[in-house]
Amino acid sequence: ILKTTEFISANDLASLMDVSVNDVIGKCMNLGIFASINQRLDAETITIIADEFGYDVKFTEADDETEVVEEKDRPEDLTDRAPIVTIMGHVDHGKTSLLDFIRESKVTAGEAGGITQHIGAYDVMTDSGKKVAFLDTPGHEAFTAMRARGAKITDVAIIVVAADDAVMPQTKEAINHAQVAGVPMVIAINKVDKPNANPNKIKEELANINILVEDWGGKYQCQEVSAKTGAGIEDLLEKVLLEAEVLELKANPAKSAVGTVVEAELDKGRGYVTTIMVQAGTLRVGDVVLAGAHYGKVKAMFDHKGKKVDEAGPSTPVLMLGLDGAPQAGDRFNVMESDREARDIANKREQIQREQSMRTKKHITLDEIGRRL
Ligand code: GDP
Ligand code: MG
Repeated sequence: ILKTTEFISANDLASLMDVSVNDVIGKCMNLGIFASINQRLDAETITIIADEFGYDVKFTEADDETEVVEEKDRPEDLTDRAPIVTIMGHVDHGKTSLLDFIRESKVTAGEAGGITQHIGAYDVMTDSGKKVAFLDTPGHEAFTAMRARGAKITDVAIIVVAADDAVMPQTKEAINHAQVAGVPMVIAINKVDKPNANPNKIKEELANINILVEDWGGKYQCQEVSAKTGAGIEDLLEKVLLEAEVLELKANPAKSAVGTVVEAELDKGRGYVTTIMVQAGTLRVGDVVLAGAHYGKVKAMFDHKGKKVDEAGPSTPVLMLGLDGAPQAGDRFNVMESDREARDIANKREQIQREQSMRTKKHITLDEIGRRL
């Protein structure tokens, strides 16, 4: 048995098997792969070649050359942080309206912005003086996409159901996503301002899928709201905070920042603009950031009001300028000690991404070759 990570070079594979690298390259050629000594081989190729030399391959953990070892938290360094909330629910049940109402009513207007751009996340202060951060990417596609990339960013999910409609397929899907992710839910029964609103019918339908709300003796907090009039929204936020309290969300604000990419795009004037959610530590202008396969020095940061900020602590979303490309939503970001370290890892990750996309393209060819052998 041969233990290795994926993507070792032809040379490394040869030395692991104690054969000459020329023999490995020769076998590659038989497979139609023209490998150089230092070329990294993908898992499939490694498996086939090792087999030729009589080895079974067992792949070990991801290549640690591309992993960033994050600082461990000591309990005494941890302080409370705000919950990060995602709103999910069926189309037209009012996700966008709810997000907009919360953003507009809770954000103090008037601040002259240095940048005007809708960013994919924002944070608000509730009347009780506590912060709540929202991911402004309604719909569970974003939630699922992020989770698929291993990002654990949502602390509490708000499930919106329109009181004049019903528990719909996407409502059930959203509930399912939150449950699978182990994220607590607060139900928002929206559009209660409408004359034909029937919140009790919604509660009954929820009960039918085993979501029993609190006032019916269940464990799920539920709030009737109107994204149109604003009724119940403050209470909804308090319920979210209550849910968060149970989770005892904490982070160390003193360490190097870590967090998740929410969205990124190329702006003609300003280069790559990246919305990130800082999850722990504090990010500062001038820090070297590694995000997915990209890196760069933070040139400037803005909050969701467009106001320039110099630093951002845990559970704070910011828009940052300075990366050399657009990382993907859900990519983790880390602050690195040096430019060089960040560049090295970014380059390796990029190479692996390239090789992986080549491998998926090559897959059929290899299978065909296998059949011919
Ligand atoms: P989304 O698809 O879940 O993002 O739903 P939207 O926020 O786009 O809302 C769908 C429609 O419902 C829009 O026409 C909104 O104006 C309307 N709407 C949303 N919330 C309310 C509400 O609380 N009351 C009323 N009367 N209409 C609402
Ligand atoms: Mg919408």
